[in-house]
Amino acid sequence: MKIALDVDGVLADIIFVWLDEYNKTHKKSATKDDIVQWDFWKELGYDKYKFYEELSGCWSRWIEVPPMEHDIANAVEKLHSVGIVDIVTARDEASTKYVKQWLEHNGIKYNDYVAVARGRDKADLDYGIFIDDSPNNVVSIVSKGKNALLYDQPWNKSITDSKIVRIKKLEEAVNVIADLPQKFGNQYKIQSFLDDNREG
Ligand SMILES: [Mg+2]
Repeated sequence: MKIALDVDGVLADIIFVWLDEYNKTHKKSATKDDIVQWDFWKELGYDKYKFYEELSGCWSRWIEVPPMEHDIANAVEKLHSVGIVDIVTARDEASTKYVKQWLEHNGIKYNDYVAVARGRDKADLDYGIFIDDSPNNVVSIVSKGKNALLYDQPWNKSITDSKIVRIKKLEEAVNVIADLPQKFGNQYKIQSFLDDNREG
């Protein structure tokens, strides 16, 4: 099983740094829990270019970016026991070097690092399962018949699709993924049994 593991909002709490900058600049006291929409920045008068440029810029403060969980490296380590774990992140050139430094600094191991140009759909990539916090991404992924685990965040609460499994901690992904091949295996067996009978 090839696993696509997202960075922003799953491994790294990058919005923490963005909020810090936003609050300082605008003399506000917004917190993560105020962000209840994926495109919350529209209400702040931002367009997507401005927001994502700022978010990318936050990565220059990579040493201050908190991991999303206390023992995130250990959770990723466990993921490696159920599949091939690639980092798959929507990313520009400028922040890539900081993200890689952050991953190393936090002891996060991965097979391949895949930077996806913004605007390109992650769902088109060849992975059996995606772990992501973006409501847009997970909807697109399941619409293409692939598996998506939604990493719980205040900005993705609107997603209630039963095909999308919500996880509150990364480690929860391990058991879900471990069960997947078995499920598909059984489905396949049932399908070939039906096909065999039809032919016979
Ligand atoms: Mg993300």
